[in-house]
Amino acid sequence: MQDQLTINRRHFLGFAGLAAGSAALSFSPSRAFGSVFLAEDGSILEWRELSKGVQAMVDMNTGGNSLAVVSGHSVLLIDTKFPQLGRALKTDAEGFAGDGAELILVNSHHHGDHTGGNCSVVPDATASYAHKNAIPRIEESFDGVKANARKAEQTVIDSGGSDALAKSARFTQRAAAKWTKASITPKNPVEGSKNSFDAGELGVNLYHFGSGHTDNDLVIHIPERNLMHTGDLVFSGLNPFFDPNGGYSARGWIASLQGAYKLCDADTTVVPGHGAVGDRSIIENQIHYLEQLIDAVQQEIDNGVSKEDAAKKSWSFMDELGFEQIKPRAIQAVYDELAG
Ligand SMILES: [Zn+2]
Repeated sequence: MQDQLTINRRHFLGFAGLAAGSAALSFSPSRAFGSVFLAEDGSILEWRELSKGVQAMVDMNTGGNSLAVVSGHSVLLIDTKFPQLGRALKTDAEGFAGDGAELILVNSHHHGDHTGGNCSVVPDATASYAHKNAIPRIEESFDGVKANARKAEQTVIDSGGSDALAKSARFTQRAAAKWTKASITPKNPVEGSKNSFDAGELGVNLYHFGSGHTDNDLVIHIPERNLMHTGDLVFSGLNPFFDPNGGYSARGWIASLQGAYKLCDADTTVVPGHGAVGDRSIIENQIHYLEQLIDAVQQEIDNGVSKEDAAKKSWSFMDELGFEQIKPRAIQAVYDELAG
């Protein structure tokens, strides 16, 4: 438990720090999944094959969950974790699709644990999508990302990463000197509630249901694979992260989840932003968590409890979940929203 707690705290510092644009960064390799799930030898990172042509880089310690979906000679990469991992994600994703692969990127939202590796991916991608509200926020993170990239190899070594990953990070470190803001910025901003494009033979739909986790969340849905990546609208088995500066709305978050849920059937594979892959029940669980959080915080407000005192509380729906340290943030954020 202590180990888990330490990992969670490190992780929290990692993505919270990046979200705030600070230099804080964390990474440690995970052995959370057995080798039976790992992609075939040759990958730098430890991918899980969810189905044929669908590889997920899902763990608790390397930032947001990434997904690589192959169709023919095209590969769709969703989210790029931290700067020291971007090149490895790109190399592996292209490797899944074979020589001369066409690379397409989607950022689920702007947070630095989902876009930190963009500079290694965007320049070589034939298309790179993010919500238009994400674009200035991603650009703002550039200086911090570049600074972290310049110590990428040491970051990997300090965290016990593999030699192959350290080598990849060394390349990133050298390349970083030439990066500009254009390197990190997706070239294809989207707006409106639904956008579609093709990745190889696959149709890919990007949904934006309004403000939720941030003001720029995209739900990525690939009907032909019955596959969805929710970004950070879903923290599976974890307390969710609230960023006061990210344009969140707890009520909007629920509405976004309801929109995503309607796209699913009982067999849909749902990849959350953090935590384990599941089915549509992980979306339901997140809805229930947020509904209970809103009710509990409203009760505190109605009882005249201050924000500071409310933030010290916990309720049963928050127990037995990871990311315990971010519970007060969640309470404070919802308090501000409801009291405001
Ligand atoms: Zn996020």
